Amino acid sequence: MRLVVDLNRCQGYAQCAFLAPDVFAMHGDESLLYNPDADEAQREYVERAVAACPVQAILVDQVETPAGAAAGAATSAQEAPRER
Ligand code: SF4
Repeated sequence: MRLVVDLNRCQGYAQCAFLAPDVFAMHGDESLLYNPDADEAQREYVERAVAACPVQAILVDQVETPAGAAAGAATSAQEAPRER
């Protein structure tokens, strides 16, 4: 499974590191380390972390590329409007 943490949103609350410690880890007080290509076996824990993140910083399966597919297949993902 593919996941991304929006580190601009992440406030370092560490809920994710608590709920899915094999995928997320705190490094120091505020910086978060994570595995962007987490094993499928971690999905249940990652989904708990997604639900628990107070700022909804964890995005799952939004950058999925089918195995063997040519690049460009996933260009229909929505992009959030940029704020000025
Ligand atoms: S739970 Fe959310 S805010 Fe907290 S460390 Fe994880 S991603 Fe960041």
